[in-house]
Amino acid sequence: MSWNLETRNNNLSSISSETYDLVIIGGGITGAGILLDATSRGLKAILIEKEDFASGTSSRSTKLIHGGLRYLKNLEFKIVRETGKERAIAYKNAPHLVVPEKMILPIQTGGTYGKLMTSFALWMYDWLADVAKPERRRMLNKEQTLALEPNLKPDLLKGSGFYSEYRTDDARLTLEIIKTAQKSGAVALNYIEATTLKYNENGKINSIVANDNLNNNSIEIKGKAFINACGPWSDEIRQLDQSMNNKRLHLTKGVHIVIDSYKLPLKNSVYFDVEGGRMIFAIPRGKVTYIGTTDTNYDGKKDNPNVTMEDVNYLINAANEMFPSIQLKLEDVQSSWSGLRPLIHEEGKSPSELSRKDEIFLSPKGLITIAGGKLTGYRIMAQKVVDIVCERLKINQKCITDSIQINGYGKEIDKNRF
Ligand SMILES: Cc1cc2nc3c(=O)[nH]c(=O)nc-3n(C[C@H](O)[C@H](O)[C@H](O)COP(=O)(O)OP(=O)(O)OC[C@H]3O[C@@H](n4cnc5c(N)ncnc54)[C@H](O)[C@@H]3O)c2cc1C
Repeated sequence: MSWNLETRNNNLSSISSETYDLVIIGGGITGAGILLDATSRGLKAILIEKEDFASGTSSRSTKLIHGGLRYLKNLEFKIVRETGKERAIAYKNAPHLVVPEKMILPIQTGGTYGKLMTSFALWMYDWLADVAKPERRRMLNKEQTLALEPNLKPDLLKGSGFYSEYRTDDARLTLEIIKTAQKSGAVALNYIEATTLKYNENGKINSIVANDNLNNNSIEIKGKAFINACGPWSDEIRQLDQSMNNKRLHLTKGVHIVIDSYKLPLKNSVYFDVEGGRMIFAIPRGKVTYIGTTDTNYDGKKDNPNVTMEDVNYLINAANEMFPSIQLKLEDVQSSWSGLRPLIHEEGKSPSELSRKDEIFLSPKGLITIAGGKLTGYRIMAQKVVDIVCERLKINQKCITDSIQINGYGKEIDKNRF
């Protein structure tokens, strides 16, 4: 089944005569997952995205399908269990897009965790996520660790935890989920921006007005249920709906830098802590290694958030601290990217302390907003909101996405992509 500009034009011409069961605003991983879940339960669903699909946070992540080891530190066991299980489902349904990745967590004198604590935390991590026996964590001594990653700083190194995660191509995963839904009849349109919400005589939302940013036309999309999955832009849609409550988004910026792999040749990903207790990844991918991320408060423009010299220097210093022999310099940085975490604000908490859990806001006018969460948890987030939609529309269909193979399943893995 083709999916191209012609499909877009055909879909656009039929929209005005349709009433959809579900209209989804936002074409990142969250919206994509919702589109697939809804369509697979038999709902007539449409998704609109104001730019390219996945052009927001969903192409700017660390690209890990992970249980979130750092959440153990914040005692967020539920997220670890949930996302840990989702990891396995993502791999089962999309092995062409989600690849196993071994991680090294160095243990250093003066580091956040000692040997015993690391061993226990990683054991618990595996246990919460039901990790298969052969993939469970192993504890390595200093020599074994340096044999795997000789660039690690030897002075304070005591050993490491060696454990399993997965890696992906975040934007490609989003696109393939949308294509899977489209094959079952879903409509997904990019460059369509929601600008106005419209309500019936009872004050309930019944359509949205959107701008076709390619042709500069205005279109109206009628529906029975509406989901706002706009990630960092979610509050803008809630403001259109005049349904902001005491909770709001708190955006934090995460920057990654990319260097040639000859500068930092790694066989495994390394997850290390830096001064102040933050954790940073160094991830080998084809001919490059990328290092990230920062986590700073952000209130600038949401499209293409900037990368500052401060961000880059922070990551260079962190890398030089953990891998002193590489002597990384500014001129070694080939490129960088920056993304915004749509977190839920909690008074008095720093960016790293804010929970990564997802949250659903139900407006009295019918709009359903889902924000926060992780790339890894997209499927379960979708299940939660589509359950609400089904209940409202009195549709008795259970979620089946845990057994839906994602478009391209069975294709050979393109190693260059990862
Ligand atoms: C630096 C960083 C690293 C991360 N690393 C990981 C990781 O390794 N693993 C992991 O699991 N998670 C990770 N995350 C979290 C994960 O990336 C996000 O939770 C996820 O991508 C959010 O997806 P989303 O669809 O909710 O938002 P987005 O991807 O931002 O999608 C929202 C979309 O809505 C569109 N939109 C906005 N307004 C409108 C409108 N009016 N009309 C139509 N469309 C609109 C936007 O253009 C955008 O494409 C990371 C996040 C960051 C910032």
